[in-house]
Amino acid sequence: MNDRTHGAAAAQLVAGLVRPEIRALSAYEVAKAEGMVKLDAMENPHGLPETAKASLATALGRVPINRYPDGGADAVRASLREAFGIPDAFGVLCGNGSDELIQIITATLARPGSALLAPEPSFVMYRMNALYAGMRYVGVPLKSDFSLDAAAMLAAIDRERPALIYLAYPNNPTGNLFAERDVEAVLRAAPGLVVVDEAYYAFAQASFLSRLAEFANLLVLRTVSKVGMAGLRLGYAVAAPEWIAEFNKLRQPYNVNALTQAAIVALLSERSWIEEQATAIREERARLGSMLGSLPGIRVYPTQTNFVIARVADAPRLFAALKERRILVKNLHGWHPLLEHCLRITVGTPDENDLLIAACAELCQ
Ligand code: PMP
Repeated sequence: MNDRTHGAAAAQLVAGLVRPEIRALSAYEVAKAEGMVKLDAMENPHGLPETAKASLATALGRVPINRYPDGGADAVRASLREAFGIPDAFGVLCGNGSDELIQIITATLARPGSALLAPEPSFVMYRMNALYAGMRYVGVPLKSDFSLDAAAMLAAIDRERPALIYLAYPNNPTGNLFAERDVEAVLRAAPGLVVVDEAYYAFAQASFLSRLAEFANLLVLRTVSKVGMAGLRLGYAVAAPEWIAEFNKLRQPYNVNALTQAAIVALLSERSWIEEQATAIREERARLGSMLGSLPGIRVYPTQTNFVIARVADAPRLFAALKERRILVKNLHGWHPLLEHCLRITVGTPDENDLLIAACAELCQ
């Protein structure tokens, strides 16, 4: 077969075999950021402190990579329990990022006709995973101030009886923390599992972890990605052991690799740097927010995360002009009507934030 006939034959097979809703998708694209001020992906801008780097190097040097990793990631789970005060009564499941856990949880609860509900706009992977798993996706719009529309959520729960609800707490991409009483109302009304996704907990200092005992249908999802370890890919889910036992059946046998496991144990054993960096980011967040908010034509929304949402006069234009100046942020314009002309700007180092503020000041006169 020559290249053309081979390609045509493959395309024909794809058209016949791959579900139309998958064919209609485009793969998640990560913007190239070589040499740029990278403020687009909610990463922690600070590297590891030197002492942590040294203990990481020692720990990684000892890993027997000729062997498979511990499938249950027992040492990691013990470290997480100790570091984050996870009570013994609840199970912990580790994933290759919380992205993988979202996939596992969704696949476990998918059955023909069952619904997955989430507010909108929220983390896009909730909707994507509903589609992958063949679940019916129900999006409930947030109010225009980005708060949860509790009445609309409760009506949708009553109407759709969702097997699964995702609430990002705080929410991405809007940055705000939903009112605790609204989340409680959802937990009480939901006939299915409610995942409270606390990816940004370190910047919000609010959590449902201590409320697990009150709700049999609550799962708290976390990640180490936003607190300086995005490259390791580690997320964790905490819920009643009965839930975790089911999710474990869908987990790939060795889903968290040996280097990540060793790194996490080493880095969590001396972890004061995590809180120090999170505190510095919270402080910079306040400065960045107030400086940007004082510029003409920019409205900054309250945030409890490590990013700031700014509504500007022309988001696509400002995004492009910043990119020309080698500053990469996220353009949310076009994602959802509530995000018209919004940019999502991850809090960087003080120097990076200064560059961004100076560029915006020049471009938004
Ligand atoms: N949940 C939310 C709300 C997020 O914003 C993100 C990252 N963008 C994730 C989960 C996934 O995080 P990770 O896979 O890096 O753990």
